[in-house]
Amino acid sequence: MALIVQKYGGTSVGSTERIKIVADHIKKTKSKGNQVVAIVSAMAGDTDKLINLARGLSKSPSEREMDLLLSSGERISSALMAIRLNDIGTKAVAMTGRQCGIITDSVHTKARIRSIDADKIREYIDNDYVVIIAGFQGISEINSDVTTLGRGGSDTTAVAIAAALRADLCEIYTDVDGIYTADPRIVSNARKLDKISYSEMMELASLGAKVLQIRSVEFGMKYNVPIMVLSSFTYNPGTLVTKEDEDMEKILVSGIASDKNQARLKISNVDDKPGIASKIFSAVADNNINVDMIVQNVSENGKTDISFTVPKDDADKALNILNDLSRKLHTGSVSYNKDIAKVSIVGVGMRSHPGVAAQMFKALSSENINIRAISTSEIKVSCIIDEKYTELAVRTLHKAFGLEK
Ligand code: ASP
Ligand code: MG
Repeated sequence: MALIVQKYGGTSVGSTERIKIVADHIKKTKSKGNQVVAIVSAMAGDTDKLINLARGLSKSPSEREMDLLLSSGERISSALMAIRLNDIGTKAVAMTGRQCGIITDSVHTKARIRSIDADKIREYIDNDYVVIIAGFQGISEINSDVTTLGRGGSDTTAVAIAAALRADLCEIYTDVDGIYTADPRIVSNARKLDKISYSEMMELASLGAKVLQIRSVEFGMKYNVPIMVLSSFTYNPGTLVTKEDEDMEKILVSGIASDKNQARLKISNVDDKPGIASKIFSAVADNNINVDMIVQNVSENGKTDISFTVPKDDADKALNILNDLSRKLHTGSVSYNKDIAKVSIVGVGMRSHPGVAAQMFKALSSENINIRAISTSEIKVSCIIDEKYTELAVRTLHKAFGLEK
């Protein structure tokens, strides 16, 4: 007998018809002799609908109330799922985040899970129930207020519950078949991966492959939870996200990712002396803007240029901050460019194979794609290019690294 945690995303439970189909699958999993805990997302579109309702009433709705509001989407789908399961003869209970002991910090709308007291869930599964859990939510340690875990947070609920229960497997059901070597909408012969390491998945998730919330992968890695990503529309074998193994290291590049949600800002002619970068990036961080790539040029005559990328939505805010600083620090001009994108290659094999970056640059240059900035980590090389070349770059790299079917 195995303990299986399943998570069903918004499209998987997007209608009562879909809920019936998923309930049948849960019933089938259970009748094979497994214990089953299922986490559900809100029905497709519901979270957005709730956000829009609030925005219609206030430009900046209070975050505590947003959490109370948004958590209701998952309450609905979890209750409906349990109602259906009971109707088809499978004993089920639905539980909110609070009821199943998920304690978070108090950062409303993007809370982090602190602890899970899984006793109640255990009691139910030991008594032969299927437990359906409303994803994406918990309660804060301090005030017991309802919190939510950020967009896509049900993935994290699922993996965290799987870790707390020491489940044998965490299955994430979605509307794609698994993790691909590139976005199949861009590269028609992209290949589904049988398995991928946690660290590669983390890079791909942060690079805009939105299949899993990044924190769920962090949890998986920390507690060694095998995560299977698969489709609730086809039930084909999916992609296993797991520990690194020797096979994975033999492969140079596992996947190509792209992210158009990037803008580049540049502040020129700043003094090249200690404390300047700190002033600039503290100001940006104080405004909760996530900085990605940073490039500082070698200085000439004691002056240098600093450029960096931020998510497009934050570009205007970042520009205002820089303009402010530019006046205070007597720098040169501030400029920005929203028509850029980031393309990246990811693979644990890079660690042991030299020349991978060079191969990437060569492939891009063969298509005359200019590289505007580069950053690397142990298992990733990213290039900033003009946005209009994104698809061409992804296809070119996919081919250059032999990833096609
Ligand atoms: N319903 C939430 C969202 O749309 C959480 C989730 O689906 O994982 O972001
Ligand atoms: Mg999702």
